[in-house]
Amino acid sequence: MKLLFEADAVIDGTGSPPLEKGAVLVEHGKVIAVGRQTDLGLPNGARRITTSPGSTLLPGLIDSHVHLAYSGSEDIKRLRADRMDVSYPAVALRAAAYAQSSLVHGFTALRDMHSPGGAIIDLRNAIARGDVVGPRLAAPGRGLTVSGGHMDLPFYADHVTLENFAHACDGPDAFRRGVRLEAKRGADFIKLNTCVGSRKKPGIYWRPEMNPEEIRAACDEAHAQGLLVAAHTSGGPPLTATVENGVDCVEHAHWIDDDCIELMAERGTFLVPTLLVNERNFEVALAPGQVISDWAHASRQAKWISLEKARKAGIKVGAGTDAGFMVPHGTMHWRELALLVQGGFTEMEAIVAATAVNAEIMGIHAGILTAGRHADMLVVAGNPLADISVLADVEKLTVYKDGFKVAERGTLLSSIPAELAA
Ligand SMILES: [Zn+2]
Repeated sequence: MKLLFEADAVIDGTGSPPLEKGAVLVEHGKVIAVGRQTDLGLPNGARRITTSPGSTLLPGLIDSHVHLAYSGSEDIKRLRADRMDVSYPAVALRAAAYAQSSLVHGFTALRDMHSPGGAIIDLRNAIARGDVVGPRLAAPGRGLTVSGGHMDLPFYADHVTLENFAHACDGPDAFRRGVRLEAKRGADFIKLNTCVGSRKKPGIYWRPEMNPEEIRAACDEAHAQGLLVAAHTSGGPPLTATVENGVDCVEHAHWIDDDCIELMAERGTFLVPTLLVNERNFEVALAPGQVISDWAHASRQAKWISLEKARKAGIKVGAGTDAGFMVPHGTMHWRELALLVQGGFTEMEAIVAATAVNAEIMGIHAGILTAGRHADMLVVAGNPLADISVLADVEKLTVYKDGFKVAERGTLLSSIPAELAA
């Protein structure tokens, strides 16, 4: 059956001005036409779905940097428990609830950034099969890291080994094999840790973990398999080496120098600056007894400068929160859009970062309302172009995935439509 969604304004995700009195025609879960209500009319056999006056219809939002394996708790002990006290199957089950919370808050797709045992790949499959209602997911399985690196959990006692947690590799051949094994597990993309923050030398806030040969080998293998590569980065020369050696999407990247900006623009490298998690460092640190590190201050300053440079250079910026670390799943994703606006983006540019750009980063046919794409949509009772914070109010949101209403006013509609079930 054809469904005709009508709203006072339709934002298609491309950055074009909104269509006043717009409509989206959907059939079999896909968009088949977008236009003005007067032009589309009511096609034969279509059912009209009206929205309340003043509503805006836009593509379902996408968060391109989340960690569904973790709760988002501010308590470091809870984070340790998230990792140590829960089996990997239980991680996937818990993650389903987190993913549903994001869906209810208007996020119809999420890119997970690493999961113990690759558990989020199983959740992704369960959602795709219709076993579980949830957002569209992309997952890399386990992140690849050097032994003792950022994701190899260097902060645990040396007698503690978390089996199958991250994927430790050393040397180009090991990274090549690492890519092959994660691809075999079902990875949608490859996650590397190429460089990390450093607090050791004053004024130098980064240090490399992977060497250029390792980065090159991992990227060559991933690209040969048709997979994009994302990397946790910090900045400076190790970030330039990350881009030079083939990484497609840099995460965090607080300190981006001018040469690296030029290189990213030339190569079409994506940037996911994860502004929110940096802000959360400060909000959480306001609690009594907490101190804010010099690194946090320096990265907070640098990230706005890097964002401005990236915007001017036309680099494609995706909206990602790092939900799972100090950022709870669901309630705070919208804040990344607000921070992009604070950093100089227009409201429309922030929406594009959370729709079209993120869909491109994830390699999914969503994020833009155009013929042939998934009808993943969000109806907001209000105008996010006038005030982006309207996205914060879950009471004002109705969420559609594949053309089906999946959440309304904060409530997940948990029955799986027969059309979606396998
Ligand atoms: Zn992260």
